[in-house]
Amino acid sequence: MIKFMSDLPTNATAANEAGKGNEFPSPERFFLKVPLYESHEVNSANYLNVVRTQFFKGTMDAYCIGCEQHSIFRDTNDYTNYTEEYALNNRIFSVELICTRENSHSLLFIFKVHEGMIQKIGQSPSIADFDSADIGKYRKILGEEKYREFKRAIGLVAHGVGIGSFIYLRRIFEHLIEEEHQEAKKSQDWDEQQYLDSRMDEKILFLQNSLPAFLVENRKLYSVLSKAVHSLSEEECLKLFAPIKMGIELILDERIEQKEKRTKIEEAKKVIADIVKKLN
Ligand SMILES: [Zn+2]
Repeated sequence: MIKFMSDLPTNATAANEAGKGNEFPSPERFFLKVPLYESHEVNSANYLNVVRTQFFKGTMDAYCIGCEQHSIFRDTNDYTNYTEEYALNNRIFSVELICTRENSHSLLFIFKVHEGMIQKIGQSPSIADFDSADIGKYRKILGEEKYREFKRAIGLVAHGVGIGSFIYLRRIFEHLIEEEHQEAKKSQDWDEQQYLDSRMDEKILFLQNSLPAFLVENRKLYSVLSKAVHSLSEEECLKLFAPIKMGIELILDERIEQKEKRTKIEEAKKVIADIVKKLN
């Protein structure tokens, strides 16, 4: 029985809540963020999410390798198979989206449903391609060495390598925190020994004046960076990747913003000095 997308309930929350284990990703997240081979359970409570992924309807914002900038992609579907039996069947399916600016630019995703689990098993362009384009803006502020490590982390996670990518991200995160620490140390009432004895979440609290508020509010999440890597599983590392990457980007965004502000102030000072000189 073929049903149409208009029949499909739009609220996926109930289905997600009923699903066990990992929360089932939205189609956009599944396409663009979830690494290859990450498994999600599919069952009679959440099968509509599988339908929504396979027969994705609508538009999605993503970086277009062809246009070399962000673009809007749209679905290429014209029907929806909506039965539970079909959604849970073992199969391989692909989803293609095309760039609304130029129809020959496309995104392709390949999924496998097998024995009650779904995985994304292929995609073009790769997540690394998307993310490399996205992190280009951090190259200068991060420096060549750390930028290379950032790219490597993204390349590894795109291939489902959790622990390896986690180690690279952790190095970068710790490097950024250490830079803030070196600055903070200069203040008079600084307790260096207490800082050194602290876990990462406590260190973030120590440095709260120079770190993004989001990081400070969510510092508990970053306490995991004090855990030994061997105590974390491949799966755990994959799950931690996104929030740690976000933390790094927030720190870098703030530094870029501050740098731009300083440049602007310097320019303004020069302009004002010139005017004063001419007036005299
Ligand atoms: Zn394009």
